[in-house]
Amino acid sequence: MTTEFDLVVIGAGSGGVRAARMAASHGANVAIIEERFFGGTCVNVGCVPKKLFSYGSHFPQEFALAEDYGYSVKGWDFDWATLRDNKSREISRLNSIYQRILNQAGVTIFEGHGQVLGEGKVSVGEITLSARHIVVAVGGKPFVPDFPGREHVRISDDLFYLDTLPKHVAVVGGGYIATEFAGILHGLGCKVTQVYRGDLFLRGFDDDIRGFIAEQMEEQGVTLKFNADIASIENSEGEKRVTYKNGERGVFDEVFYATGRIPKLDDLFAEGAAPAMTDAGAIKVDEGFATSVPGLYALGDVIDRVQLTPVALAEGMWLAAQLYGQQKPEATMDYHNIATAVFSHPNIGTVGMTQEQALAQVPAVRVYKSAFRPMRYTLGDKHARSLIKLIVDDTTDKVLGLHMAGEDSAEITQGFAVAIKMGATKADFDATVGIHPTAAEELVTLR
Ligand code: NDP
Repeated sequence: MTTEFDLVVIGAGSGGVRAARMAASHGANVAIIEERFFGGTCVNVGCVPKKLFSYGSHFPQEFALAEDYGYSVKGWDFDWATLRDNKSREISRLNSIYQRILNQAGVTIFEGHGQVLGEGKVSVGEITLSARHIVVAVGGKPFVPDFPGREHVRISDDLFYLDTLPKHVAVVGGGYIATEFAGILHGLGCKVTQVYRGDLFLRGFDDDIRGFIAEQMEEQGVTLKFNADIASIENSEGEKRVTYKNGERGVFDEVFYATGRIPKLDDLFAEGAAPAMTDAGAIKVDEGFATSVPGLYALGDVIDRVQLTPVALAEGMWLAAQLYGQQKPEATMDYHNIATAVFSHPNIGTVGMTQEQALAQVPAVRVYKSAFRPMRYTLGDKHARSLIKLIVDDTTDKVLGLHMAGEDSAEITQGFAVAIKMGATKADFDATVGIHPTAAEELVTLR
């Protein structure tokens, strides 16, 4: 068995697999090490199962809507185990596809814990591998703050494998994961309280969108408890008894924490082999993903940049091309105007500057905004609404930001992200003839 490679990648998640495959396609002799599951967080305990659950959680709303169209949908039942197990079967299928893709690319797979021993050396179990380049792409893990009763909480990983669906849950956090899971659990029939320490969740998103999502979620029946922080949790006969810092109390079947993710550095570097770290505890890299150790690179959630799967994929591809490609990519990876979505209920699509960012950075800004009821909901008394916003530089007419909350926002935003990446102006939007009747056409008819 060969132990000499051009490149050894630690971590077969989104970024690692992409870096390994692309490097192999450029002719490098590549090995990849994985200790848990192929496909990483996104495939196993992140984007993919989350989206499947999100689809699943929309059915009750669809059944209710169907009545407005003349259907009688009565006596339906929901079996959590069916959804959970079907999801797990699909994930197993994806795991094998990832392995197959690596095999087909000629990448040698090692299953076990990878540890960087020093310059150009990595161990996996008893085996030591040598390589000119090493890429660390081990991802992140959930962060739960320290407080009395911390051991009684669940994290997002647990949610994907619950034996039974709890009746009454608290979801703590105000970011992507907490907001998505509050919507999913509510849709699946749980009574949900989302607990967030600040005034309004989804910090960093456009303020109007944040307020709109809060309004919509409350209307659907999710309890939003803002300016609330948990001081302690007691577990009493299966019940989680929560005491907040202001002395208030609450009782839940489960308390889920989604309070951010941190780099997964456990036992990753042998003594003396660790590169420099950032103040936030991530691996420090330069613009070319090089760490302070020669030949050692890092990308994806283990570095301190943008924690999104497509970003890790782009980073992996960029680095492989930079190290082994015939045609070198741009000198640095472009992180501008990355579109993103929150699969909350309703979901959010966003690209570019928020109104608040634009007002702070650009001398003169125009804001276009419209809220409307999607046509699908006009036959009955449902209150589903959508909100769209364009942020435009008043001097150049360039569209700086596009934000949408409501049905299909994520799907709609992806296409518009291309236009914004290309530098589209408001006049370009105005000159685009809409597709009627759609929700997306609202974005080209804003005046
Ligand atoms: P986020 O960083 O998005 O949000 C963390 C939340 O937890 C914030 O609301 C934060 O509050 C709060 N928080 C942090 N520390 C504490 C604490 N000590 N006590 C109470 N609250 C706290 O992290 P997530 O876990 O939601 O997601 C991790 C990353 O995964 C995201 O950044 C995102 O990039 C990625 N992701 C992307 C998805 C997508 O693309 N759809 C879906 C899911 C995850 P505050 O705002 O006050 O700091």
